[in-house]
Amino acid sequence: MLYMNAPKKNNRKLIVTMALPYANSSLHLGHILEAVQTDIWVRYQNQNNNECLYFCADDTHGTPVMLKAKELNVTPQELIKKVQKDHQDTYKLYNINFTNFHSTHSDENKSISEDIYKSALDNDLISKESINQLFDTKEEMFLSDRFIKGTCPKCGAQDQYGDGCGTCNAVYSVEDLINPTSTISGTTPIIKDTEHIFFDLPKKRDSLDSFLQNTILQEPIVNKLKEWLNDDLKKWDISRDAPYFGFEIPGEKNKYFYVWLDAPIGYIASAKNWANKNNILIETLWGKESEYEIHHFIGKDISYFHGLFWPALLDSSNYKLPTGIHVHGFLTLNGEKMSKSKGTGIMAKEFAEICDPETLRYYFASKLNNKVEDLDLNLDDYVQKINSDLVGKYLNIASRSSSFIKKNNNKLIDEVDSSLLDKIISNKERILNYFESREFSKAVKLIMEMADETNKYINENTPWKKELNESVEISSIALSAFYYLSIYLKPIIPNITKAAFDFLNTEKNSFDDIGKKLNKDINNYKPILSRLDKIELPKEEKMEDQNIININQFADIDLRVAKIIEASNVEGADKLLKLKLSVGDLGNRQVFAGIKSAYNPSDLNGKLVILVSNLAPRQMKFGLSEGMVLASSDDKGGIYLISPDSGAEEGQRVK
Ligand SMILES: [Zn+2]
Repeated sequence: MLYMNAPKKNNRKLIVTMALPYANSSLHLGHILEAVQTDIWVRYQNQNNNECLYFCADDTHGTPVMLKAKELNVTPQELIKKVQKDHQDTYKLYNINFTNFHSTHSDENKSISEDIYKSALDNDLISKESINQLFDTKEEMFLSDRFIKGTCPKCGAQDQYGDGCGTCNAVYSVEDLINPTSTISGTTPIIKDTEHIFFDLPKKRDSLDSFLQNTILQEPIVNKLKEWLNDDLKKWDISRDAPYFGFEIPGEKNKYFYVWLDAPIGYIASAKNWANKNNILIETLWGKESEYEIHHFIGKDISYFHGLFWPALLDSSNYKLPTGIHVHGFLTLNGEKMSKSKGTGIMAKEFAEICDPETLRYYFASKLNNKVEDLDLNLDDYVQKINSDLVGKYLNIASRSSSFIKKNNNKLIDEVDSSLLDKIISNKERILNYFESREFSKAVKLIMEMADETNKYINENTPWKKELNESVEISSIALSAFYYLSIYLKPIIPNITKAAFDFLNTEKNSFDDIGKKLNKDINNYKPILSRLDKIELPKEEKMEDQNIININQFADIDLRVAKIIEASNVEGADKLLKLKLSVGDLGNRQVFAGIKSAYNPSDLNGKLVILVSNLAPRQMKFGLSEGMVLASSDDKGGIYLISPDSGAEEGQRVK
């Protein structure tokens, strides 16, 4: 079903989700684009007398989280807890107003995943098959395609992933890759048999057909989904072997749900977590007979999962299928794909320090439509648009009108008939329709046209040349216009319009208030937003790619001059010497160093070396090693301790 005109009826009940951010890194601006698009739609719904709930969660399972935790020497649970806090803090900066934000690593998600799996079992949709998979013998784990690199069998390009070539775009099976290497251990994987669990997607072809007919979807997405559906629908592999961070499959041993099975179930789990806290049954929200419309906002890269796997899985469960899936394109920065390696990735927290996040919300809204198109964040255009639209047009109405009202003790007068206000009021239906159909750029354009007309009205009526009562009348009309424009803009820039409503001494401000009169008494106007200067992005990501670090990253390493006060052999260790170091203020440290082949313990006493003093202590078989001493080495086995020049003292910081 394609998008039709906005439903006119009020008091709808809606559940809205956006794609769950993955819990192995911080959010970038692409995440914020999706969050802002979704948040504007949710705020619009609530401001239009509907009940709209907004659920999200961190997507926590799978190999990347497991490996990231290993790399950081923490448990996956510790990692996902830290990342979830970071994600929530960042969304807050951009004023993303979730009803509930949860985690897929939760009791609710475990029980709903098991429940949905059981329904699939009961409906004869689950089977087992033996498959060949590459196995890393060093890490003792099966490798998915993204953890294997090798030479492309078609064009010979090196360093290509297991499922496709980035150079010639060939798609191949991982067994055809030449010289495959595990990216985890660097070893050559072997091919090994393993039994996997499959969900019978082809059996759901008819249900999916009717899903495509009855769901709100964009045309290119419907076409793509139909193509997949009619093409080569295969059974879906929903299990992964241990070691895996996820939920163990009930009734199976060492088999875990594939992260893409329980990730979307996380939407329902987040709703359930909130429902429990509010004494509401999850069935009321998401049961088959629920009155709630369910809308998913996602990026185009995951339409396959949301358009096929997800409804197929839900179809045989006790949960309701989506009412609509709304797909957006990717974010580009100054015309280029956001990519860390090209230096065009920027983290959302970092950007919030450079610009007021509200202004990014406005910029995104001014460019968002309901098509599956990429959106470009052009930084010069951004500065120009904020200065021209928000500062120069919209807020300018308030700042220039307030001075006349101030002379009247901040009292407005009853406006007489105004064709300007009539016009702004009569545009309400159009604005609502643009919001409903996610054509935010059209809404913004129309709102700015009305701001232009208001400024024109002020210019033509020259209140600065008039007697007080006449200038107050002109300004009262201008401020009523400003009030209605603020209500229209409220879902897009909630903080800025909050300041506007404080100035106008008004509180409710739903779309129903369009056309209503303001209180007579308003407040002093305080500047709400300053003009933006040219934005210069930090170049750190570029440096990272070239293996260059910045000064702060270097400063994280605490290097100290240390004096060896005792060196001794370690029984049972061929390569190690045990060093006792004096590090001035930091006291004494014990370090095990692999330098036995090059140094006699007796030659080392009193020698000054450089210690990495804040390296995490490591428990070894022979005792605790509290840091690392620096040495260079060559291919022939030579090892050379690094020493400071004479005069350096133990405990001094190397910087
Ligand atoms: Zn190739």
